[in-house]
Amino acid sequence: MSKPKVAFYWAASCGGCEIAVLDIGDRILPLSEAVDIVFWPCAMDIKYDDVRAMEDNEIDLCLFNGAIRTSENEEMAKLLRKKSKILVAYGSCANEGGIPALANLKTRKEILERTYIEIPSVDNPDRIFPQTEFEVPEGTLELPELYDTVYTLDQVVDVDYYVPGCPPVADQTWAVLTAVLEGNLPEKGSVVGAGTKIVCDDCPLERDEEKKISGFFRPHEIIPDPDKCLLEQGIYCAGIGTRAGCEALCPTVGMPCRGCYGPPPGVFDQGAKIVSALGSVIDSEDPEEVNRIMDQIPCPAGLFYRFGLANSILRRTTTDDYKD
Ligand code: SF4
Ligand code: SF4
Ligand code: SF4
Repeated sequence: MSKPKVAFYWAASCGGCEIAVLDIGDRILPLSEAVDIVFWPCAMDIKYDDVRAMEDNEIDLCLFNGAIRTSENEEMAKLLRKKSKILVAYGSCANEGGIPALANLKTRKEILERTYIEIPSVDNPDRIFPQTEFEVPEGTLELPELYDTVYTLDQVVDVDYYVPGCPPVADQTWAVLTAVLEGNLPEKGSVVGAGTKIVCDDCPLERDEEKKISGFFRPHEIIPDPDKCLLEQGIYCAGIGTRAGCEALCPTVGMPCRGCYGPPPGVFDQGAKIVSALGSVIDSEDPEEVNRIMDQIPCPAGLFYRFGLANSILRRTTTDDYKD
């Protein structure tokens, strides 16, 4: 009997999700016995044309990490959708845009201007920017187009399952792999291997529901009590608006949750959920005082939507098209 065919792909990604696959440790050995890995650009030299040559639905499972930020990312998402029976959005970037989607706070023009002109170490007096096509004696060179907006995977193709996390923890990766291998698949559209509550529910730090805060500290400005809730000590923690599933990895070691498991079940906009939850712990009902307290949070959009901007109601700020 032929083995299930598995593919891994990275689009606009940092590479961490590729390493996370290897976090399954020794289990990689039975996995490599049980499946044929047919495409994994990070680890194997297989060309895009080899994927194009495959039959439709030939790949049984594709774990796709990274957001959609370029024409190449979109082309590969569409190609792998066509060639895969099961397409999984793997990691925060594929699920919600992740860190790359913070680019949606700027326009493409602003990003290119900053990168190729303004950065002090750049010397580019002729204002040369990357071109999607460039003629050389040998022919036309092509580069992918950088999109003005970063998208989630399911904003460009149909997605079967979601595995959140930046990156997902090893047990989640294993859960999706074994579910496919054993034919024990949950309902299409499910979030696989993550919890149904919020990070606070798994957090071992002691909470006092009555405690209110009158200001925020950045982590380097305070030595917190290691046994008590960080938020109640004035350290911004996104656990109040983030799906459980990582066993509260960060607050367990004294670091605030940054929200990488995305919105809890039933919540679409994680940033809005966090803002509303913060509202309930701030010790004032005076709008000016509330503003003073909230002003102590640097870059609120970047913090509240650190992973979920592309998947939010806000989605992005202005666009190049609008500015033109
Ligand atoms: S989800 Fe996190 S680890 Fe995975 S590609 Fe995105 S930034 Fe990297
Ligand atoms: S430290 Fe963060 S995750 Fe833990 S209980 Fe407080 S708000 Fe929730
Ligand atoms: S505690 Fe928060 S930031 Fe840390 S791994 Fe869990 S969901 Fe992600």
